[in-house]
Amino acid sequence: MLIVMKQLATADQIAAVVAAIESRGCTARPIPGGERVSIGVLNNKGPVDVSFFSGLPGVKDAIPVTRPYKLVGREFKPEDTVVDVGGVPIGNGHLTLIAGPCAIESEQQALTIARLVRKAGAGIFRGGAFKPRTSPYSFQGLGEEGLKILTRVREETGMPVVTEVIDEESFDLVEAHADMIQIGTRNMQNFSLLRRAGKAKKPVMLKRGMSATIDEWLMAAEYILEGGNAQVVLCERGVRTFVRHSRNTLDLSAVPYVRNESHLPVIVDPSHAVGRRDLVIPMSRAAIAGNAHGLMVEVHHEPEKALSDGAQSLYPKQFEILCEQIRAIFHTVTAGA
Ligand code: PEP
Ligand code: MN
Repeated sequence: MLIVMKQLATADQIAAVVAAIESRGCTARPIPGGERVSIGVLNNKGPVDVSFFSGLPGVKDAIPVTRPYKLVGREFKPEDTVVDVGGVPIGNGHLTLIAGPCAIESEQQALTIARLVRKAGAGIFRGGAFKPRTSPYSFQGLGEEGLKILTRVREETGMPVVTEVIDEESFDLVEAHADMIQIGTRNMQNFSLLRRAGKAKKPVMLKRGMSATIDEWLMAAEYILEGGNAQVVLCERGVRTFVRHSRNTLDLSAVPYVRNESHLPVIVDPSHAVGRRDLVIPMSRAAIAGNAHGLMVEVHHEPEKALSDGAQSLYPKQFEILCEQIRAIFHTVTAGA
């Protein structure tokens, strides 16, 4: 339940509501807003008595939260969250472009691509050091060496970096090197990893599970917020369907839907959604037209030699064109907002 205080509610009235919530064995989470304070009621075991709370002095409204998620929901926090990734904002009015190779392969490869994508307009560099691969025989990433290369990319180019964490064992190491920690589709419901991410001091990008419903995805984000980390970016990356023309099916309607439901920023990864280079630019345009706050795109200067996902990686020149086109689309979308 969410208790919305009156604009002129006093500090004593707010404290009395908090005490009343706690006396019922629940947790009170006050959220200061621009005009008024709201108080989230958490950890209630069953239905909470709405009429009791709406009758307390200073209370404007007591709203039962019917959604399974609370902290990630708009009812809990109406204003958009802006996530700060090493000085680069994601969310509310910003268009954020994340680009780079699927995997970090060498320092020279990472730096070459980073310079090219930065010049084209990317604000954040991506690259996997720990790769969750379907086959144990495929390239698994450079591990810690890959993380050190990412640190050099940041130093050389000034771009913050995002990279995936695949287990709790390597979490501390990834957290130390990354500006944003990625939780991939295969780990979206790895609850112990989500709990660890809730304790992280860095923002987390949570990709949608490949067969996850929106509620499951938001509940996964809820684990992270509930653990204490409110800096979460959601990333739609396609879901598995019966089609064969693309790797997954990009669920674009998820973007405006989730933006209505949640205050968290939502970006789109068209690369893993389609799995083939020729569909990446059209889907990127569609994602921004559909209100995404940004994109994460795989780019490689020599995709034919890439150790993973070469077939879906854009050539740097294509990424440049993509950036120009989506800037124009973003401008049109936000001008009408
Ligand atoms: C990735 O972004 O490197 C990745 C593995 O993506 P996903 O988890 O969406 O498959
Ligand atoms: Mn990839």
